[in-house]
Amino acid sequence: MVGKVGVGGTAPAAPVVVQSMTNTDTEDVFATSMQVAQLARAGSELVRITVNTREAAAAVPKIRDRLAQLNVDVPLVGDFHFNGHKLLAEHPACAEALAKLRINPGNVGKGARRDEQFAQLIEIACRFDKPVRIGVNWGSLDQALLARVMDENAQRAEPKDATEIMREAMVTSALESAAQAEALGLPGDHIILSCKVSGVQDLIAIYRELARRCDYPLHLGLTEAGMGSKGIVASTAALAVLLQEGIGDTIRVSLTPEPNGDRTREVIVAQEILQTMGLRAFTPLVAACPGCGRTTSTVFQELAQDIQDYVRERMPEWRLARVGVENMTLAVMGCVVNGPGESKHASIGISLPGTGEAPVAPVYVDGERVVTLRGDNIAVEFRAIVDDYIRKKYPERQNP
Ligand code: SF4
Repeated sequence: MVGKVGVGGTAPAAPVVVQSMTNTDTEDVFATSMQVAQLARAGSELVRITVNTREAAAAVPKIRDRLAQLNVDVPLVGDFHFNGHKLLAEHPACAEALAKLRINPGNVGKGARRDEQFAQLIEIACRFDKPVRIGVNWGSLDQALLARVMDENAQRAEPKDATEIMREAMVTSALESAAQAEALGLPGDHIILSCKVSGVQDLIAIYRELARRCDYPLHLGLTEAGMGSKGIVASTAALAVLLQEGIGDTIRVSLTPEPNGDRTREVIVAQEILQTMGLRAFTPLVAACPGCGRTTSTVFQELAQDIQDYVRERMPEWRLARVGVENMTLAVMGCVVNGPGESKHASIGISLPGTGEAPVAPVYVDGERVVTLRGDNIAVEFRAIVDDYIRKKYPERQNP
């Protein structure tokens, strides 16, 4: 179970936690519960839901109850803007049901009301003993603070450029809000910071500065990363640099789903970033060669896809039943050039026949050639080898 600030909070060696966010209407208890459950089953360890109306706030405890019925205990983070102070005051059960509150300091209130409403939010967090993520977003940066930072910059002998000022204003907003929250009584270990921007270099620069200037846990994510490969590449480029430097305690990959697309994609991408970097292991990885002129049929792409899908489908069950199965590696290779070599490096590898090669597919288990598959049933037989390997290699959990 994830702790107060989420796994990856204050303990230095804590693993980086994968977070996601629903895109359902929170007022719709059924749809939101189902999507939270789907995200949790895909591996999301924290799920954020928007809380934007009275009805949404009233729905939160019902969502928590529905999730309990579904046997899903993933912590929920409530996302509050503009009216969070009112919603939480009117719906204490909402505050109670949430594991964490996310507050955007740029959207807490304007002018004199800003401090008052921020204080109300923090008082509620203290009363219910909830951690708070102070989540700055460059699309809703506190305009009064930005104006102040710009004024201060204008007084400098050598003023900084607009990009640097924007970055500085974001870091200042996060740190000043955190200091304000602590002054209001919220313990420092109940505070998480984030500063989301959509530019890779901006994100890297801002988080390096945050990490340099504070010890709060940091939530990483590129906002408005975009759709498809662009969103994945941009998020990976930004997050990988920071994670490599040891910066980041929770991460989210904010992908715009394709119409009717699968929301769990953002969870899988976040897991793959962490796993390919060697920071965590979630599910067995399938290495596959890209194919080339030696692979004139689609057999090998189909087998690679089949195995990847099979592993993802079975992983929730394997994870519960077997210890260490996420560390298994698989290789599906297209011909004899690199096939046997790569296959020998995997837990289980198969080298399919390339053009002009004998129609046989040697299978390697822990580096040893154990069997040669042939014919039309290779996919099914390979799955059986995977199942058998898991049974023999990974011990049963004592209390699954
Ligand atoms: S392993 Fe064979 S099929 Fe795959 S990319 Fe290399 S040469 Fe091409």
